[in-house]
Amino acid sequence: MRKIGALEAGGTKMVLAVYWEDGTEIERITLPTESPKETMPPMIAFFQKHQVDALGVGSFGPLELHPDAPNYGSITSTPKLKWKDYPLLKELLGGRNIPAKIDTDVNAAVLAEVELGAARGCRNAVYVTIGTGIGGGVYADGQLLHGLVHPELGHMLLRPHPADPNPRGVCPYHDGCLEGLAAGPAIGARVNGDARDLPDDHPTFAIEAHYLAQMCVNLILTLSPEKIILGGGVLGRQGLLPMVRKETLRLLGGYVQAAAITENIDSYIVAPALFPVSGLAGSYLLGKQALEEAKA
Ligand code: ZN
Repeated sequence: MRKIGALEAGGTKMVLAVYWEDGTEIERITLPTESPKETMPPMIAFFQKHQVDALGVGSFGPLELHPDAPNYGSITSTPKLKWKDYPLLKELLGGRNIPAKIDTDVNAAVLAEVELGAARGCRNAVYVTIGTGIGGGVYADGQLLHGLVHPELGHMLLRPHPADPNPRGVCPYHDGCLEGLAAGPAIGARVNGDARDLPDDHPTFAIEAHYLAQMCVNLILTLSPEKIILGGGVLGRQGLLPMVRKETLRLLGGYVQAAAITENIDSYIVAPALFPVSGLAGSYLLGKQALEEAKA
């Protein structure tokens, strides 16, 4: 049986694994994300040691994802400056001509949840991770959505909550965007502290739920997903997910008449089934896709 290499490339850590084609894991390692000079050699060595037959990568971005682009698989304008314009996929392959596919970490995650997790059987689903940043992957009509570049739904613009003491948020690019208002650092800025130190019943989580519900409403109205999956550290907060569901229904105002939403919101806006490895599992699936497409 052939081997598939998978990399989930994150801003703080790199998770690498090698699987048999049927999904059985052979080995997994985690490395801290330093500069390419420090981090790339052990990653290349890991995949070389296993002689992988295909490679799948889910990475932080933004990324060049047009297969015809000369810099396909490069990280482009990231704020992680050491990785800016870095040809990640090309360097990982090191000249080896094996099937390979790269996508955003969140697209990898939504793919995994659709094939193996909380959105199994769905042809339309969205995965959003809410942690130190906010990113979302979109699966639309049975495939990952890229569009012109790829969706950046973490930066959608929102209406301020009337009781928000910091209604412009903390994003350096936008006044009042989702990430600037609802990621971990935004919560911290709102309470002049660290979001992780707050009790579950702190009133700031009502504001948080309001923003995440606005996001859900916007996703429902634009993409009409069959499932919305919310992951990431912030969603680990007890009681937040039920508040988001309730607020989503309130903000929708009964406009979208689908029983999946109006009667079954608890199974419509859900936690990921594969957390925290959705991205890694998705990277394996990307590698498997690349292998199958090369065969066809
Ligand atoms: Zn923004």
